[in-house]
Amino acid sequence: MTETVFSKILSGEIPADIVFEDDQVLAFRDNNPKAPTHVLVIPRKPIPSIAETSDEDRELLGHCLRVCARVAEDAGVSEDGYRIVANIGSHGGQTVFHLHFHVLGGRRMTWPPG
Ligand code: AMP
Repeated sequence: MTETVFSKILSGEIPADIVFEDDQVLAFRDNNPKAPTHVLVIPRKPIPSIAETSDEDRELLGHCLRVCARVAEDAGVSEDGYRIVANIGSHGGQTVFHLHFHVLGGRRMTWPPG
């Protein structure tokens, strides 16, 4: 996989405001937040998007979602609710091709997304 801004964050080459990390994932604040709480949860494994995952990634994907829930809880947005978003490919609005989940909260979300 080619280098991305997120692989550089994982390697420590560029800084990030990290809110959670373990051996499988990293969670850090989005530097252009779209909501009062906007955290990105990424696997350390270099996978471009959900479209490129396989059955062997099932546990990792489940873990990413559990970490999203933990991040939301820690941010204090769990009770009011929040949104988890994964953009995939150009029509999905993906701009960084390292799999990531957006955790957005702290305001009421609209539906459908634009
Ligand atoms: P997406 O459009 O789904 O690929 O989301 C990429 C997200 O990464 C956007 O919300 C950007 O604001 C965010 N982003 C890009 N570079 C950085 C960075 N250096 N630190 C934190 N967030 C970033």
